[in-house]
Amino acid sequence: MTTTRFAPSPTGYLHVGNLRTALMNFLIARKAGGTFILRIDDTDPERSKEEYVDAIKEDLEWLGLHWDRVERQSQRLDRYSAAADRLREMGRLYECFETPTELDLKRKKQLNMGRPPVYDRAALSLDAAEKEKLRAARGDGHWRFKLRQERIVWDDAILGPQSIDAASVSDPVLIRGDGQVLYTLASVVDDTEMGVTDVVRGADHVTNTATQIQIIEALDGTVPRFAHHSLLTGPQGESLSKRFGTLALRDLRARGVHPMALLSLMARLGSSDPVELRHDMDALIEGFDITRFGAAPTKFDERDLFPLTARLLHETDFAEVRDYIATLGVPADLAERFWDVTRENITTLNDLEGWWTMFRDGADPVIEDEDAEFVAEAMEMLPEGPYDDESWAKWTAQVKQATGRKGKALFMPLRKALTGQPQGPDMAQMLPLMQVIRARKK
Ligand code: GLU
Repeated sequence: MTTTRFAPSPTGYLHVGNLRTALMNFLIARKAGGTFILRIDDTDPERSKEEYVDAIKEDLEWLGLHWDRVERQSQRLDRYSAAADRLREMGRLYECFETPTELDLKRKKQLNMGRPPVYDRAALSLDAAEKEKLRAARGDGHWRFKLRQERIVWDDAILGPQSIDAASVSDPVLIRGDGQVLYTLASVVDDTEMGVTDVVRGADHVTNTATQIQIIEALDGTVPRFAHHSLLTGPQGESLSKRFGTLALRDLRARGVHPMALLSLMARLGSSDPVELRHDMDALIEGFDITRFGAAPTKFDERDLFPLTARLLHETDFAEVRDYIATLGVPADLAERFWDVTRENITTLNDLEGWWTMFRDGADPVIEDEDAEFVAEAMEMLPEGPYDDESWAKWTAQVKQATGRKGKALFMPLRKALTGQPQGPDMAQMLPLMQVIRARKK
């Protein structure tokens, strides 16, 4: 059965880059009727925070990316030790004592000689007595996985056939000197024991994948299908990593981005299929195909989210926004009318608040000097009401006859005088609603 996982480290808020990974894994599982696991990669006790675990869940729920179960690496440490023991017994895990400074020096020397900075495996030739001495002087060592020096190949669902020479990669550290198991091992143990069949993650993990394939094989696991999506850049191809702070999912939510707008964009960005606005998850799942994605960096422009959000809102039924509108203080019996009048003129739901304030309190009239006389004359002619859907047409017809103004010169100054803005919902509909709302205030 298809099983995928999204495996964030709870060291910060999810951003648009993480979302791509989450969404692709989610869609693969749902399309196949499989299982989607939320795995919290919290082996680093210093950087992992419970607050971020909660935030990750909240963000995924907001988007409707529901998981079938949660796993936490911090609760599986005994599994990782057991796997490490097995690797040690096979002679695939060896203890090293170099300090970070020594490793750095080695790398610089290699680079100076024009060689790739690959760990030289000096620790492999230490005998028991030498190790004892080093341990006494420096404390416990860190443990590296001994790669087989052969080509590592896999057929990547996005990048196509991959082949990496293990000799060009350093033996990865799996356990730190303080005993902390690193992600490279923990992830392999989890994927193997949880039956993960498909792993989608960022292209920054390609080298990890090569080494992890060897670890999986050493532990007699089944190598999952791997797919590495390209990294997101800004609209000009610039790096987004510094801006991820402002592209957190919760910030986009606060700015009024509609979840389906975000998901519709992310499910297609970087693929050869066009972005199509989807209204529900089923349509998104149906239209997803991982093999359509390409290796080139993917340009992301957050501004694209707003027209998509607007289009979704223009088609949204009142029932879906009833609760939100109630929070603005719109009386229940007027809420649906308020929505019908305003929905075509908003980009995000956040815009409703401004319209509601205008309906309730009115706006400071905006009147250009050259229109002052005209507006005064028109206002004289405005009947007391009550207004209906015809009132605006009747009134402006009279004003037109009296003043000779027509078209934009007639309508625009009246709109600005009444609403304080040059654009907005249909005046014929706004006029009666404004009157009803203000009459209630009195
Ligand atoms: N915690 C890892 C990360 O966030 C997971 C990578 C993976 O999917 O294997 O980069």
